[in-house]
Amino acid sequence: MSQLSVVGTGVIGNGWISRALANGWDVVAFDPAPDAEARTRAFVENAWHALEKDGLAEGASVDRLRFAATLEEAVVGADLIQENVPERLPLKQEILSAIDAAAEEHVVIGSSTSGFKPTDLQQDCKKAPGRVIVAHPFNPVYLLPLVELVGGEHTSPALLEGAREDYQALAMRPLIVRREIEGHIADRLMEALWREALHLVNDGVATTEEIDAAVVYGCGLRWSLMGTFLTFHLAGGEPGMRHMLEQFGPALKLPWTKLEAPELTDELIDKVVEGCEYQAAGRPVAELDRRRDDFLVELLTLTRKY
Ligand code: NAD
Repeated sequence: MSQLSVVGTGVIGNGWISRALANGWDVVAFDPAPDAEARTRAFVENAWHALEKDGLAEGASVDRLRFAATLEEAVVGADLIQENVPERLPLKQEILSAIDAAAEEHVVIGSSTSGFKPTDLQQDCKKAPGRVIVAHPFNPVYLLPLVELVGGEHTSPALLEGAREDYQALAMRPLIVRREIEGHIADRLMEALWREALHLVNDGVATTEEIDAAVVYGCGLRWSLMGTFLTFHLAGGEPGMRHMLEQFGPALKLPWTKLEAPELTDELIDKVVEGCEYQAAGRPVAELDRRRDDFLVELLTLTRKY
């Protein structure tokens, strides 16, 4: 039996908690918000429906969750620690140095940070800075298997290998990132698409709904099986990628490829928010979460099959 200690129980912390419980782990959590425990228990209950469908591990139980009164108490006995406080570097540095001081030296401390580099996160850790790494998951953490692992200047390759095994024990697909960069790998890709999507809305070319349709009924379907490179390899016909690059490579330099993000003006923000509210059609996020989860469970079953 293993214990995950979770510091910060918002959307992502609660996702980690749900995943660990579903895999039969004990979980000890800490979050200073007064309603944190109630929010977490409601979150886990909502996620459990999909987790049950996807298959619970032996011993999986929501009763294995306990909240601690302090961060120091939360990390006692941990086999793995996951930090999920808001994305602000000074706050993360402060919390990670407190976790490092309190936790046993051999335990890996993963940060869910979407963008910060591990060397910056390790900066104020005195005891064993190398074990503070980026362990970047994807929402909903309890269903999506990818976790990007990134070591900083104090991290050894052996530590990253050990961390890979820790996250595999949570039924994840760890991807060790070879070099630390802001945004790691997947967020860099998502930001590129997000940037173009915002330009299209800003330029009045398409609504949020139309852009989402282009992903949902087109490229998104293929990506979930093959990603971007293998998808384009097939698009090149029998010679594959070489032909694809000869044919479409020059298009990458056309002036419509926009590298700068658009200014988030009040007008653009209103357009995007109104577009999303129209698409949500009055359904609360929790209801949309359920719809997404049901779909993901079936999609995961398919990806395991192929
Ligand atoms: P969130 O705002 O939903 O949750 C943050 C939580 O941290 C809150 O519950 C808050 O009470 C708690 N907190 C604040 N100060 C704290 C402290 N001193 N000690 C302990 N807990 C504290 O944020 P989130 O979306 O869950 O993001 C958390 C991290 O995960 C960020 O680093 C973010 O970049 C990363 N991340 C987010 C997503 C996403 O889609 N939301 C995806 C991957 C990674």
